[in-house]
Formats: sequence, C-alpha cells, structure tokens
Amino acid sequence: MSEHALSKSKYLSSLQCDRRLWLETHQPGAAELTSEAQRHIFRMGTRVGEAAHELFPGGVLVTAPASDHELACAQTRALVVDRSVPTIFAAAFEFEGVRLRVDVLERFDGEGSRFGIRAVKSSTCVKDAQHISDLALQKWVLERCGLSFVSAELIHLDADFVKGVGAIESLDLFKRVELIDRLGSVEMEKVGARVEESREMLSMLAPPEREPAAFCKRPHPCPFWNACTAKKPGGWFIEQVGAKEDRKAIMLEVTESQEPWVSESLEEELGSLQPPIWALDIEAIGAAIPFFQGTRPYQPIPFQWSLHRLSRDGTLHHFEFLASGRRDPREEVANELVRTLGQDASPIVVYSGYEQRRLKEMASAAPKLESSLVAIVDRLVDLHPIVRRNVYHPDFLGSYSIKYVAPALAPSLVYTDLVTVSDGTTAMGAFARLVAREMSPYEEADLRNAMLDYCRRDTLALIDVYRSLRELAGRHKRAPGAIDQTD
Ligand code: SF4
Repeated sequence: MSEHALSKSKYLSSLQCDRRLWLETHQPGAAELTSEAQRHIFRMGTRVGEAAHELFPGGVLVTAPASDHELACAQTRALVVDRSVPTIFAAAFEFEGVRLRVDVLERFDGEGSRFGIRAVKSSTCVKDAQHISDLALQKWVLERCGLSFVSAELIHLDADFVKGVGAIESLDLFKRVELIDRLGSVEMEKVGARVEESREMLSMLAPPEREPAAFCKRPHPCPFWNACTAKKPGGWFIEQVGAKEDRKAIMLEVTESQEPWVSESLEEELGSLQPPIWALDIEAIGAAIPFFQGTRPYQPIPFQWSLHRLSRDGTLHHFEFLASGRRDPREEVANELVRTLGQDASPIVVYSGYEQRRLKEMASAAPKLESSLVAIVDRLVDLHPIVRRNVYHPDFLGSYSIKYVAPALAPSLVYTDLVTVSDGTTAMGAFARLVAREMSPYEEADLRNAMLDYCRRDTLALIDVYRSLRELAGRHKRAPGAIDQTD
C-alpha cells in the first residue's frame, strides 16, 4: 500500500488520467505553474462557496488550513458530536489515507448523527461524470468514518437567477439537487476499486505511459501537458487534430519542410479587404455571482474594447475604452464604440465570433443603439475561417487558435512582457477587482494600465495577422504553388 495520501482532487485527477495522479504525487514540480487566470477561477469558486454558506444559518467553519489536515479532522470530530451545531463548513475526514473536506455537512434534526453532504459548485448544472464521482467519494469516506446519510445534494448556481436591486439573496442564487439515489452500492464499489487501483499505481516507481490526447483537456486542462509532450517527435499531434486527410497531409509536409503552406485562394478570399480597416477586440466578464442589476450568472458583460485603424497610407491609429467598474458598463461600452466606429463604413477585422456575439447582445440590451450596433456587426470580417481555409504554418502546431496563429504570423509582436494581464481570463479577474474596489488608487491605476496594454496588444496582433496574410497572398501571386524564399 502506498504511504501517499489521496486527496479528493487527486482522486478526481486519477479519473482523468492515472499518469496525472502519479505525476501530481511524485513530480508535482513538473506541472505548469498556476496562472493568474486559474487564480481568478479559484477566487470565483471561493466566493460562490462563501455565498452558499448563507443557506445554512448557524453553520460553523472548520478553520484549520488544508496544510494541517490532522487538526482539521480533530476540529471536525468535536463539531460532529456537538448536536447544537446544525451545519459544519469545510468538514475534514480521512479514511486509510483518503483525505477530503466536505463543503457543507448538514445535520438532520432529531435523527441522531445522520447527515447530508452538500457539494457547492460554481457551475449552472449538474455535470454527471464529475459531480457524481465527487459526491460518491465523499460518501464512501464519510461512511467509513462512521457517519450515515439521508441526503447528498449538489448545490449549483441557478442559470435563470437575475440580480435585482440591492444585495443578492443566496436562497435565490442557488439550486439544490438531491442525488442520494445516484450513490448506490454499485457507485460505492466503483469508488472502492478506484481507490485501490490508485494506491497500487502510486506505489509504482515510474509513471504509467499514456499517449496525450483530447482527454488531457477534459474536464480540465492537465497541468502536465508540456511535460508529457516535450519530447514528442515533430508532427506527433497531427493524428489528433481531427482534420480531414488532405489537411493532415499538408500539416505533415509543413512540419517536415518548416515552410508555411498558402492556398491559391487566399488572395481571392482577402479580396476587397483593403485598408482602411479596423481591428476590434472586446473584453467581457461572465461573473459567477452577477455584479449588476438585471444580469444573470456568467452573462457576458463587456467592459473594455480596443480598436486599431490601419489607413490606406499604412498609418495606424489606436482607440480604447475601459469602464470604471463603479456601475454597469454596457451602455458606456456601446456608446463609445458606436461613437468611434460610426465615422466610416470600412471593414472591422476580428478573430472568432466572440465580438459579433457581444455586439448582438449589446444591441438587444440597448434599443436606442440597436441599429448602430447592428451596422457594426455587418462590417465585421472574421479572419479565423480565412486563415483556416488558406494557411498552415509550422508554428500553428495543429491549432488555429489566435494563441498560435498570432505568434506564428506576427512573430515580432510578443506578449511575454505582459505580466499582470496577459489573456482574457486575467482581464476578467482584473475587472472583478475594479468592481470590488479592493485596491489603493495607485494599484488601481497600475491595473488599469495593464488591462489597456493587453487589449491594445490584441488588436495590434490582429492588424499584424492581416498584414501577414496579405504578404503571404502576394507571394503566392508571384510564384504560384511555391513560397518565395528570397526575402
Ligand atoms: S498531459 Fe495527458 S497523458 Fe499527460 S498526465 Fe496529463 S492527462 Fe495524462
């Protein structure tokens, strides 16, 4: 038997991949560092958990930290035998090396020591595979610690909740779903077998060999992806990208030659897309617990945009807007965008359907601006399908995401100097901090600058991708079927 403790998160990792469980236990340093984006997601989860506590008046929190599980278990034992405590938050248990904390352990009046497990999730629905496994492990451990259950609930956000005036009532924000019937003996046997397999696997001297594939990204991206793929031969991913055979052949050829492939149709597809053109990036936040009146959990609320305008003579002008966070930003975002873009009718490049969706949502929320916003939607040109159909670069590594496409086609534009805000999720986290007003004026000014820098870089990248596409199309025109190597 392995002497390594198996936490709930490690158990759930093992369901994704047993190699991941082994690496988390024996080589945790090989994992990618926790990013600011992940920290934002954790913070959001913590806020949801705290809000759910309000559903259980009189509940008592086990205060010992995760690092002192023994103390947490001792505090829990004292609360379990104290019948005056109706509910225990973050209750800690351990059975033969399997350790966990229960979000909410609710005592049932008049039934001695019978309890209900409540797992609080930031999702807006029950995710069967994940959530049932999570509750099943909790029930398995707690029953072996001598507790019995009459209920096992998943508490998740209600997708239909709409924030009204004033503070949010937790009773309205959450939905409680009883799942005890899903945790029968078959499910418990599965947990027991899985725990045993995990223990055996952890006692191995080396990690099991597993071929990285789509399962590494679900339900959460595995932090060992880089470690597992670092020594793979070039082009190993091609069989995994789900492309048609002819496209896979192109990817293979480009990987071997290290020369980009450009279709003959690129010039035609870019067609009338000539300067003046605009590049637009919109940032929006989907807060688990809505900030603004009239909005729902995870409803995207635009709070920032950046625009670059490339003129016919090649000059570039920049425009930007970032809301204060003091009030619902949607009207201001829309007004400023219409005011800036309404001056001409030239095309606006984007990379994905994200901006189109945000503009349509703003149009339906602001009837006065509807026609102007719809006119902006009509000017959008999405570069993503154009790149997808017509270009493959060795640095795309099988992906047409802007994260790969921009550095490949516009290598002079780097993001590495952007530390505080470097992607859409960290921008959301930054705006959440503006709303919470948890900073000094100096910190707030620094954060706002970081947000503006990031968004500006995104539209600059779009302009550079556009220029690069034009250049690739031009090369093709000069030498059909080949890439000009002379410049
Ligand atoms: S990257 Fe994939 S194969 Fe490697 S440990 Fe993670 S889930 Fe397993």
